Amino acid sequence: MNLIFFGPPGAGKGTQAQLLVAECKIPQISTGEILRSNRREGTALGAKAETFMDRGLLVPDELVIDMVGTRLSDKDCRAGYILDGFPRTVAQAVALDELLEKQASSIDKVVVLTVPDNLIVERIVGRRSCGSCGAGYHIEFKAPVVEGVCDECGEELYQRADDTEEKVRVRLNEYDHNTAPVAAYYRQRGIVREVDGVGGMDEVYGRLTDALEH
Ligand SMILES: [Zn+2]
Repeated sequence: MNLIFFGPPGAGKGTQAQLLVAECKIPQISTGEILRSNRREGTALGAKAETFMDRGLLVPDELVIDMVGTRLSDKDCRAGYILDGFPRTVAQAVALDELLEKQASSIDKVVVLTVPDNLIVERIVGRRSCGSCGAGYHIEFKAPVVEGVCDECGEELYQRADDTEEKVRVRLNEYDHNTAPVAAYYRQRGIVREVDGVGGMDEVYGRLTDALEH
């Protein structure tokens, strides 16, 4: 099954994608990962992309699409794949369609994981980490025994500088702004499945697999 995954930051998209990868044995593909592997392997496309990245410029769509096309024709994509973070724009979605058409393929479903903004803010703003052992906490959902202190190693916990309400809301607005037109593009085709992302990991995964069957 060829899938595209959308979900706001902090909605658990990564976790859900990983569960699906493990069950269906299909790869999760992001443009970041494709870029990195092209550069690592020194491909012609990777070298071209580097000329833009080295100048601090965005890699042009055409080049990104070429790389995605090459990646999707790899053997491990035969049974399907999960595209994560791509397409980001309607223009990219149109280019992806053209590319898939050439490969006699198409996108089967587009998953949009939804979690209310306020809940995402609560989830992210409450996060705390231990800088020493890397243990993760949440002030409400997974509080340490002693406030502000790591249960594992006794070090002080910290909050990431990006995890403030203001910054989270900026990220959420960006996500809405970017995703809404792309989701609308696929919605016309009747392949968008909105999945309620509120609840436990297994509960959400149950809804996801249900949604993919219908
Ligand atoms: Zn610790």
